[in-house]
Amino acid sequence: MAAVKDSYSGGCRCGAVTFAARRPALGANHCHCRSCRKMSGALAMTWATFPADAVSISGETKDDASSADVRWTRCASCGSLLFWRRLERDTIDVAFGAIDDPGDLVPSNHIWTSHRVARFTLDPELPEFPERGA
Ligand SMILES: [Zn+2]
Ligand SMILES: [Zn+2]
Repeated sequence: MAAVKDSYSGGCRCGAVTFAARRPALGANHCHCRSCRKMSGALAMTWATFPADAVSISGETKDDASSADVRWTRCASCGSLLFWRRLERDTIDVAFGAIDDPGDLVPSNHIWTSHRVARFTLDPELPEFPERGA
């Protein structure tokens, strides 16, 4: 089995925005919250969390604020949803599906299941949390 990676790269669908994460991920979750569903159009949004200062972003992005202290960041050209930040935290969530090669990084929890609208069976063995996970 390959070792857990300590760097990742990825980007949006059109290639205008790329990112690099130069430290290991802190974790990854499937988030079922209402904001993630609406912002992505998916039943859940899968995020990998990194230290904010480990992630560099290049290319033109566009931010949406769902609340004063939250930023959702997309490619300004193709609209791919790429990042989520709560501004006072020193972490950044990277859209898991935008990572080119996640290696052995796997989501470990379902979070915000209190907002779940449809049962889905991705990783049904994972722990579930009605709100923010551990
Ligand atoms: Zn793009
Ligand atoms: Zn969410």
